[in-house]
Amino acid sequence: MRLGVFGGTFNPIHLGHLRAAEEVRENLAFDKIIFVPSFIPPHKDLYDVVEGHKRLEIVRRAISEYPYFDVSSFEIDQGGKSYSIRTLEHLRDTYNATPYFILGQDAFDEISTWFDTKRLFSVAHFVVMSRPGTERKPLSKIMGGIADTFQTDENGFVNKLNKKIVYIDITPLDISSSAIRRMSKQGRSITFLVPPEVEAYIKQERIYT
Ligand code: ATP
Ligand code: MG
Repeated sequence: MRLGVFGGTFNPIHLGHLRAAEEVRENLAFDKIIFVPSFIPPHKDLYDVVEGHKRLEIVRRAISEYPYFDVSSFEIDQGGKSYSIRTLEHLRDTYNATPYFILGQDAFDEISTWFDTKRLFSVAHFVVMSRPGTERKPLSKIMGGIADTFQTDENGFVNKLNKKIVYIDITPLDISSSAIRRMSKQGRSITFLVPPEVEAYIKQERIYT
């Protein structure tokens, strides 16, 4: 089974996420992509993050008609700080497959700050998607010494454990959750930035007002 795992805050999920996942799925012939909304401690005043189960429900509604997309409540159910390494090990064991962790270039730039970066690259492959406003950087700039464990490979890099970093250029869609939250707050339209069912749910529950 070819398994993609797409982590994020998804506050809320938008068409930038969904189109990106669709292009990656097609490009790498994934059987399934699992969206994993992360748990965030409720510092609402600080981070403006909506409660986990609401973000989960928004993702659920957005992907319900696409059988190859799935959502996992693993990180939100666990609560506490979300460590991607745990999620990836859990999904690897559940599906008996080496997961491909999907993330945008802006998120990949931060990877050296993640918990147990080195072990991450023994558990999963990484798919790095282009994103407007963020340039691709040399691996050494992003992950320092760990970069030496990788060799150049088709479309990216590979390490001794045969775990890959694959770069994918996707249709640039300059959409972000933070812009959507801002627009919502200002009472502006978010139509055509999120799926209709997401817009309806956000309105109904008055989530970003
Ligand atoms: P925020 O503005 O709140 O940070 P966001 O739009 O960046 O929200 P996240 O939930 O932070 O959304 O992103 C989850 C993952 O999706 C990250 O890896 C991010 O790089 C990627 N991503 C988000 N939007 C896009 C986009 N428009 N194009 C490509 N990748 C994206
Ligand atoms: Mg982000």
